[in-house]
Amino acid sequence: MLLGLVAAALTMGPVVAADAGTADYEIEVSLDPDTHRLQASERVRWTNSTATPTDEIYLHLYLNAFASSETTFMRELRGSSLRGRVALSDDWGWVRIERMVLDGSVDLMPEMEFVRPDDDNADDFSVARVALGRVVEPGDVVELEIEFSAQLPRVIARTGFMDDFYLVGQWFPKLGVFEGEEGWNCHQFHASSEFFADFGRYRVSITLPENWVLGATGVESGSAPADGGRRTVTYRAERVHDFAWCAAPPDLMEVVETDFSPGRDVPLQWLERAQSLLGLSAAELELPPMRLRLIVPRAQRVLAPRMVRAARLSVAWFGLFYGPYPYPQLTIVSPPRGAEEAGGMEYPNFIGTGANRLDAYSPFSWSSDIEAVTVHEFGHQYFQGMLASNEFEEAWLDEGVNTYAELECMTAIAADGLVPEIRPFPYWGAERLALAVPQVPVKVGVRAWDYRRRWVYYLASYAKTAVVLRTAEGLIGAEAMALGLRSYFDRHAFGHPSGHDLVATLSDAAGQDLGPFFEQAIWSDAVPDWAVTSVRQRTPKTAGGFSWDGGEWHVIEGDETDGADDEAADSDIWQVDVELARLGDFIGPVDVELTWADGASERRTWGGEERWVSWRLEGSERLAQVVVDPDGVWALETRRADNYWRDKPAREDHPLWWVREFLGIAGNMFLKWS
Ligand SMILES: [Zn+2]
Repeated sequence: MLLGLVAAALTMGPVVAADAGTADYEIEVSLDPDTHRLQASERVRWTNSTATPTDEIYLHLYLNAFASSETTFMRELRGSSLRGRVALSDDWGWVRIERMVLDGSVDLMPEMEFVRPDDDNADDFSVARVALGRVVEPGDVVELEIEFSAQLPRVIARTGFMDDFYLVGQWFPKLGVFEGEEGWNCHQFHASSEFFADFGRYRVSITLPENWVLGATGVESGSAPADGGRRTVTYRAERVHDFAWCAAPPDLMEVVETDFSPGRDVPLQWLERAQSLLGLSAAELELPPMRLRLIVPRAQRVLAPRMVRAARLSVAWFGLFYGPYPYPQLTIVSPPRGAEEAGGMEYPNFIGTGANRLDAYSPFSWSSDIEAVTVHEFGHQYFQGMLASNEFEEAWLDEGVNTYAELECMTAIAADGLVPEIRPFPYWGAERLALAVPQVPVKVGVRAWDYRRRWVYYLASYAKTAVVLRTAEGLIGAEAMALGLRSYFDRHAFGHPSGHDLVATLSDAAGQDLGPFFEQAIWSDAVPDWAVTSVRQRTPKTAGGFSWDGGEWHVIEGDETDGADDEAADSDIWQVDVELARLGDFIGPVDVELTWADGASERRTWGGEERWVSWRLEGSERLAQVVVDPDGVWALETRRADNYWRDKPAREDHPLWWVREFLGIAGNMFLKWS
């Protein structure tokens, strides 16, 4: 059907390998730039690594999410585009299986049916079920041969074409994940969701116009001329769970070949910081060198050094704190103008960053967007690439934990002045500000398509999760947090951990059960919110009234008034009643700092199980100030103006008392996280 592109694509070697993964793929694909189509053949070798037999497989056919206006993806998108840019019109995308054979001989085409496990939408064709006609016992291997064609959409949701630029992701029929007794985990393609797949080995041969630029997951292992002024380039990758590539003519994009060299690229202060937080020696933290390939529009060439520097800093930061990047190469593509929706995305060994040529000039160059996007997408090599949690069901484990790591790294880049162009930016303050927006409380721990709105998915999976971890760090300390995340990788790399795995690992590192904290922070919509609701001060001498003594009533010494806030009192003793309230549902210990007029202060911890508490204090001075959470441990608490109380006379003593008051409240609300 497709312009004779199949011919070059059908010679395949054996797939079998001793150290094969669970799902190994060999794909030969040919790109036709005139029609934006792919013609391909694919050999899949799947090992049932569970203890449960099965007689079926499930396949993702992601590109069919773009096949019509009625797919689940498009309905959830509600007519907009993924990132507010390009919308599909008539440039639909699809993938069609044309031939499928089991074990070299059994035709599976009659056994294939489309299923909709998430929403029963009869117009969605993004998941297929195939009855195999035989049982695959634990440890058994299934080999499928598939021929398929794919129409790429105009760039949408990180994939597609824009003129001659191609970002080819989610493009091939791909197995779901067999989870034993729970069956196949194979969700439809949703507007708010990323992916989940088994690890395996990939060998992908791509045939494209001869002089075109190409970048992909893995490393190039061969290149050979093909018919019609074309060439075939082969890439190999191991221990990855996806494969993506980009291609473009050389007048549009160029390649910068460079590297990460630890001696040159690891900032010394970061090495020292990692040593002190993790308790590891410099030798134990040594990172391997690796290759970096940057594919950049010629129009952005002037920004390439900045992108390379951002990539090197990313490799250093994540390598030091989470463990060495375990692959030999990273490819970074910055999409050209008009294809921005293909940027800011992660695939194994292959990430999309984003830039604008104006970023070369001030004041645009002051923004740290290039660094932030590069750090974030590289961070996904760890959370999405190596840990590979189920992003359909627990998106926060990738996006949110990675956003936490990104903000830590960006804060360090800015504080250490490693990118002289950028101006100070309150990274954590910005995340907390976003968290203060929604009126309806947000729960993080739901499936990606079950959030009330798509912006709530982003808010919960990215910002809220990052701030939850920041709060956990405040509660257990930076050292325990760093150790916990490091051992999260040690324990679960290539293991698809769940949210409860993360909580268990952090609890071990902290030496305390963080379950109650995370149950509330992730799996409930409880909001932390405390307030100082009342402070009353009096001296005992101002007490009045009557007392029964010696068989008659006596007047108590002092004024007849109740004497509250009496400044004239000459007693040495002030009695102070401080009332605090828990306005939110989140229960957790919070520190309270009480400062007296002479500057002396004391701290108390309120467990916060009750709705309110009242403390009676006594001192030789008036109480001058009360601050709930004085260290800003609870970054999750965004309503903090009422955490702060200052004695009125003390305020008005100062000619600019209102300035001090404003600074006090503002500082308590924001400055600790900026
Ligand atoms: Zn991300």
